[in-house]
Amino acid sequence: MKRIGVFVCHCGTNIANTVHCDQVAEMAKSYPGVVYACENKYMCSEPGQMMIQEAVREQNLDGYVVAACSPRMHENTFRKCAERAGLNAYMSEQVNIREQCSWVHADKEKGTEKAIDLVRMAVAKAVRNQPLSTSTIPVTKRALVIGAGIAGIQAALDIADNGFQVTLLDREHSIGGRMAQVDKTFPTLDCSACILTPKMVEAAQHPNIEMATYTEVESVDGFVGNFDVTLRKKAAYVDFHLCTGCGLCQEKCPKKVSSEFEMDLGPRKAVYVPFPQAVPNKPVIDANHCRYLLDGKCGVCKKICPTGAIDYEQKDEVIVERFGTIVVATGFEQFDISKYEEYGAGRYPDVITGLHLERLMNASGPTAGKIKRPSDGKIPEKIVFVKCVGSRDEAKDRPYCSKACCMYVAKHATLIKEKLPQSKSYVFYMDVRTGGKNYEEFYKRTQEQYDGQYIRGRVSKIFQVGDKLIVRGEDSLVGRPIEIEADLVVLAAGMEPQKDAKDMARRLGISYDQHGWYSEAHPKLQPIETHTAGIYLAGTCQGPKDIPESVAQASAAAVKATGLLSKGELTSEAMTAECNEAVCAGCGLCMSICPYKAIDGKKITERVHGQMKEREVAHVNAGLCQGCGACTVNCPSSAMNIKGFTNEQILAEVDALCQR
Ligand code: SF4
Ligand code: SF4
Repeated sequence: MKRIGVFVCHCGTNIANTVHCDQVAEMAKSYPGVVYACENKYMCSEPGQMMIQEAVREQNLDGYVVAACSPRMHENTFRKCAERAGLNAYMSEQVNIREQCSWVHADKEKGTEKAIDLVRMAVAKAVRNQPLSTSTIPVTKRALVIGAGIAGIQAALDIADNGFQVTLLDREHSIGGRMAQVDKTFPTLDCSACILTPKMVEAAQHPNIEMATYTEVESVDGFVGNFDVTLRKKAAYVDFHLCTGCGLCQEKCPKKVSSEFEMDLGPRKAVYVPFPQAVPNKPVIDANHCRYLLDGKCGVCKKICPTGAIDYEQKDEVIVERFGTIVVATGFEQFDISKYEEYGAGRYPDVITGLHLERLMNASGPTAGKIKRPSDGKIPEKIVFVKCVGSRDEAKDRPYCSKACCMYVAKHATLIKEKLPQSKSYVFYMDVRTGGKNYEEFYKRTQEQYDGQYIRGRVSKIFQVGDKLIVRGEDSLVGRPIEIEADLVVLAAGMEPQKDAKDMARRLGISYDQHGWYSEAHPKLQPIETHTAGIYLAGTCQGPKDIPESVAQASAAAVKATGLLSKGELTSEAMTAECNEAVCAGCGLCMSICPYKAIDGKKITERVHGQMKEREVAHVNAGLCQGCGACTVNCPSSAMNIKGFTNEQILAEVDALCQR
């Protein structure tokens, strides 16, 4: 029988206030295998760890159980402590009597009883613990950044500046993302393009950055340090090596369609560059609208192109590339305002979103920066803003705050007053949230110097009478209904995840919340990491953020990514699955369930009734296995076991629980 020690932590008063730690230690002395038990105020402290190490040596312990806080917090601390004491790291077991006992039970006696049960179970497991070892895997020193908005660009630049190769991928054919559509940024009113385009150009010209625009991620295989990513380079029907970006093809193309970049407020051609500062500044042909690709007619662009760059025969190209780490910066979509039927969005052309207004205010936009009503081109005089459209609204399944709308509405009201001094802006709001440097001051200026009139209350209906929009709502501060006759209504549409965010998460093997925002590994202590090692988050794919926040997180993700790339090799997981080949029936159920594709089949030869026979059994690739345990619960022959969590150990814990 192994010699086990038990160390019960008070965690100051966190545990000791609701658990009789002395009783837990005393009870532990009676469990089979326990030769030593004691308590300490802070087990994780230097003296606490010294105490464990001395006990290991003096009591000749084979392993120990620490009853303390969550293993997420200190499992590594106590494993390292075991190593310093001369034990294998995996001979240390941690049981959580803080979050699972003291923090959830007000009754000290009940909390103590539960702590005693948990320690008894942990001891039953610890006596069956075996030393485990890790192996090392090489790291491919290249990063993939998915999404080339401001967050992706920043992450790519930071990784590249640290000397590592980066592929910056975007499914659109220019980098820049949403920020490229924005006219000015709050609270400084910088021209968005003026601060974004230098970064776009820097990324395009950086010797360590390879741009992969018009490219999608099809699938991701492999594991931290070695992700094999299948990429689909979409056919642009233009050979970028030959194209000089002269723009003749765009000019002569006879087919006009509505421009997505201009939020359908202006046209583009079938062969097009989405905006003047696009990077790369080379056109692609939209196969859904090109007359030649649809019915073999036209071909003007091919005839006109002086370099012979138009290639109607071009096909999608599928390639597999290996990366050591991935930064996900796939961004957001604007909330679909047509879900607010009561606001007439989609029916009334003069009910628009904040992003539409950005394009109307932009000098390179469809109206050359003149704010005109989409319906008749008139200059509006009364403008009504409605905040929280698709944010903080449980009825629309969008209970969260989109964070940026309060500030972009203040920015819009300010800019409109500057451009149209005779105009008047009204802002319907529920709350005003201005958490950011100089944000509150900016919002105050909108009211005091730019005559923005804020009305606290929800808008119930917007309808059209003649060429005016009637905005009916409530002024909840004076407690009476209110109606405003407006020329233009701007709905401050919130942010929502990309439509294919869940699909992308499945391809990457990362998790997402109930709305589809990607989940960080820990909301406080690991806000950049995902649960999949080597994959990091940047920007609004994780939840609503403004530009400075996205940029800061992108740099943080880059630090994590470069930290990983700078390692020559990585230590693989020790607690991986292993197959007991003697009892494996080769049914393959484990292979079908493994989310990391870590199991394949292998042939073994064995003697059966004196004859050599060959059969197939499961084989685990320890480099891919993440120790999730899906295979063990699925295996009908109990052949699969997770090292450190064997069926025998788990059953021993259940037995120990039943012994109460
Ligand atoms: S005409 Fe030819 S070279 Fe000029 S932008 Fe078009 S594809 Fe490129
Ligand atoms: S524990 Fe099993 S199912 Fe989970 S990753 Fe490892 S092999 Fe796959």
